[in-house]
Amino acid sequence: MKIGGLQKLSLLDYPDHLCAVIWTVGCNLRCPYCYNVRLVRGDVPLISEEHVMGFLEERKDRLEAVCVTGGEPTLQPDLLKFLGDIREMGYLVKLDTNGTRPDVLREIIERGSVDYLAMDVKTSFHRYHLMGDVDPDDIRESMELIRSSGIEYEFRTTLVPGVVFPEDVLELVRSISPFKRYVLQDYESRPPHIDPDTEGLEGYSEGDLREVIEMMETKAIEVCFK
Ligand code: SF4
Repeated sequence: MKIGGLQKLSLLDYPDHLCAVIWTVGCNLRCPYCYNVRLVRGDVPLISEEHVMGFLEERKDRLEAVCVTGGEPTLQPDLLKFLGDIREMGYLVKLDTNGTRPDVLREIIERGSVDYLAMDVKTSFHRYHLMGDVDPDDIRESMELIRSSGIEYEFRTTLVPGVVFPEDVLELVRSISPFKRYVLQDYESRPPHIDPDTEGLEGYSEGDLREVIEMMETKAIEVCFK
């Protein structure tokens, strides 16, 4: 595993559980607003898997869960073993994914390697090209796999102006339904970004998203405005 970051405690990254967060190195997308530039490009010092496992072993009486995020964790060839080893220690495991690798996701689900899946749905399918070389059918397939997995999950979209338009949210709600939990996150610029032109972009105001907010209220969608 190529690990580029370890957060020893998070109250936010696993619903209702204290967790550690592990960041894997590398990503197959290039979202223009991404602020994990060095992690995505592999330009970070690596943390040994041995160190991470030693830390988790030592904290297993105090932490309940581990969130594996990235970058894109499904690019790691030894991800399944890694997830299995963490679960064997007694941790709940959450995996964050961009949904571009449904074949890996299927294997993870079939082997029961995770307890929670969180998938970013970046924008409407016809705008996915803004994130790089993505086949929207892979995104659809991943969503369907997750929905039918029986595993706890959430879909989430960050409301980035120029990438996600209010009409995209309305379309997404229709196209990804039914879902258990759909989280809309406010966008906050955190330079440096992959595309410097996106730095300093202002997120939407609640007024900009009035129609979306009304729809969310009727569908009980969680929205995270900071
Ligand atoms: S925001 Fe995009 S480029 Fe950055 S890590 Fe996530 S999927 Fe990869």
